[in-house]
Amino acid sequence: MTLPKFEYFAPQSLDEAQQLLLDHGEGAHLLAGGTDLLVKMNHGLLKPASVIALKHIKGLETIKYDPKEGLKIGATALLADVAAHPDIRKHYPAVAAGAHETANVQIRNMGTVAGNLCNAAPSADNAPTLLAMNAEVEISGASGERRVPLDQFFKGPGQNVLASGEILTAIHVPLTGSGEGVSYQHISARGKVDISAVCVGVMVRMAENSCSDVRIFLGAVAPVPMRAVKAEAVVRGKELTGEIIEAAGIAAMEESQPITDVRSSADYRKKMVAVLTRRALMEARDRALKS
Ligand SMILES: Cc1cc2nc3c(=O)[nH]c(=O)nc-3n(C[C@H](O)[C@H](O)[C@H](O)COP(=O)(O)OP(=O)(O)OC[C@H]3O[C@@H](n4cnc5c(N)ncnc54)[C@H](O)[C@@H]3O)c2cc1C
Repeated sequence: MTLPKFEYFAPQSLDEAQQLLLDHGEGAHLLAGGTDLLVKMNHGLLKPASVIALKHIKGLETIKYDPKEGLKIGATALLADVAAHPDIRKHYPAVAAGAHETANVQIRNMGTVAGNLCNAAPSADNAPTLLAMNAEVEISGASGERRVPLDQFFKGPGQNVLASGEILTAIHVPLTGSGEGVSYQHISARGKVDISAVCVGVMVRMAENSCSDVRIFLGAVAPVPMRAVKAEAVVRGKELTGEIIEAAGIAAMEESQPITDVRSSADYRKKMVAVLTRRALMEARDRALKS
């Protein structure tokens, strides 16, 4: 398929990219890896008048781990580089897993974690773990920089809080404390070539064998990745026995609001929410107890 004509810009700095966005208004779209954007353009769902590439902006690709401040993932850091980064694998294994479980090797070598979040698909593989870990996004626009907690970033399918002219420049993930464990679990009908039918990210903090804090996020079962507050209430303050974990999975299943679509029936998604929440809680608990 031939794409309709558009202007292509390759700014070398953030200021230049922001100016281009402002000059070209609503018809301008940012391009990171293009693995979502170009698919939409190919299908005629988006017809940008101009495309502004981010990959020539020095520094945006940086991944930095600081033992005092945590992890910073730059806007153009590739999924493959996040999945393979030794500090991320060591200190943030569930973040590495989210990136690794996204698509296939070809897509991971083009696509970015930031693009995955900005695209705001309810099924985005990188969202649940980052949400469970209380990540924030750094946003740069004409009026300066702001940081937004990721749990306030998604507005609906394909919609986020970025205002016109704003660019997500980095993702900040807090340090994991001792006694904390995180897990990412997902399932998709056709493995690596399909997006997740359900995905789950869980963070638990254990204190003297009971769960002192927990965050559970479910993907692909609501218009935006949703927090499973009822399931959290089941485990908070409790010893994480098999029985309690089972009950939390059922609570998550009951509060999820999936739809039926080409990837899965609502009924299957609900059943998988129970299974994946249970698996994620078990893995997060075991990691927390070992940390
Ligand atoms: C074959 C295939 C398989 C896939 N499998 C999966 C999968 O298993 N799981 C999954 O979650 N996704 C999957 N995807 C979707 C896609 O690959 C991911 O969402 C990827 O992370 C998008 O990153 P990108 O850099 O390519 O984003 P792009 O396509 O470049 O951008 C996506 C959107 O975000 C905007 N954007 C990008 N960066 C910024 C920024 N820094 N600031 C503001 N806006 C920005 C763009 O304007 C665009 O609207 C798949 C796609 C394909 C083609």
